[in-house]
Amino acid sequence: MIFYTEEKNNGYIVIRFAAMKFSFIYTVFFLFLAGIPVTRASDIRIGLFYDREIQSAVFTVVQGEYILFGDGKQIKSLRRGSILLIDYTADGVAIQDTAESHGGFDQIEFRGISSENVFSIKPVYPSFAGKESDDDLLVGVAGQNLRIINRLDLEKYIAGTLEAEGGIAAPVEYYKAQAVLIRTYAVKNFHRHSFEGFNLCDGQHCQAFNGKSRWDEEIHAAVLATEHEVLTDQDGQPANTAYHANCGGMTASAAIEWNEDLPYLTPVNDPFCSESSQYEWRKVISLNEWRQYLLSKGIVSSLLPDNLTQQPARLKYFTFGDRRILISDIRQDLQLRSTFLTISQESSNMIFSGRGYGHGVGLCQEGAMEMARVGFVYIDILMFYFRDLIISQYRSEAFVK
Ligand SMILES: [Zn+2]
Ligand SMILES: [Zn+2]
Repeated sequence: MIFYTEEKNNGYIVIRFAAMKFSFIYTVFFLFLAGIPVTRASDIRIGLFYDREIQSAVFTVVQGEYILFGDGKQIKSLRRGSILLIDYTADGVAIQDTAESHGGFDQIEFRGISSENVFSIKPVYPSFAGKESDDDLLVGVAGQNLRIINRLDLEKYIAGTLEAEGGIAAPVEYYKAQAVLIRTYAVKNFHRHSFEGFNLCDGQHCQAFNGKSRWDEEIHAAVLATEHEVLTDQDGQPANTAYHANCGGMTASAAIEWNEDLPYLTPVNDPFCSESSQYEWRKVISLNEWRQYLLSKGIVSSLLPDNLTQQPARLKYFTFGDRRILISDIRQDLQLRSTFLTISQESSNMIFSGRGYGHGVGLCQEGAMEMARVGFVYIDILMFYFRDLIISQYRSEAFVK
């Protein structure tokens, strides 16, 4: 992947990019007038309904015009409102509408040919909620199921993901910071699912993507204002841009939380998230349950860790005599909101008092929202949570369709 980095505060560069954006918009407008399908700058392929097994689904044209291809050969064109049933069969993918049916394809493709193309895809066997999305749809076979892939413009994917991951009704500078993180993740993990024929999945495994952004004004503005921007490290590589709901007042280092020593993911004292609802939590379990849990870890010496006195720092382990437990294991086993916690005993109960929600590494979303509310711009927010990273321009030519 190729990057070039430039200082954001250099007025000349800002003007140059503004000019590039204007000329791009002008070109798109011209092509639109001329009736020529617009070639998108860079595409990404998203595996839809990744954690489900689907045998049948219904495709509908919501906006624009599509051409349907079967194994690369043109079958028919589809206008707004056209509906087709797509089935898995032992011979391959089959398609059917009220007039005709075709079958035996390795892959079918619905290719949008208007300036704006929107479709919906609704699984019917099994039946569950579908998605509406932009641009193209590819359907092939995976095992005894359909493999459903949305090929769309990268920036439209960023907008859809921003809506799913970033929360609603947040300040625009926060949305801009989050858009840069989501774009950086997409670029960094571009080949995560390559062996399955797409780039990223639509689930929590990658980034949640619920389909088309409603293009709320703030989300639209945030994606356009940060177009092509990604965070890179000192070597020019896309950074690990982790984020979480609330850090509890101090972010976690990647070294402690993930055994991954990244100099830009080190603890930051965060005064911005303390008024948020997810800043503190508390969980009570019985003494007996805790004793059984410790026993399952081979610990019988004591009920309370020896190193509690080191709190409120973020610790990696709790030690019990010559044994220790990863706090991230305790979090997972007891389904706690964070690893930033202390333990105490009150008569026959154990009290877990914790701060924050999530793994705590990288950007704290509730802190970032508050920073935006009090007037920080997105670059300030990113530089506060990620140390010594650079905002770079991603060169879309590096994407391979
Ligand atoms: Zn994934
Ligand atoms: Zn925070």
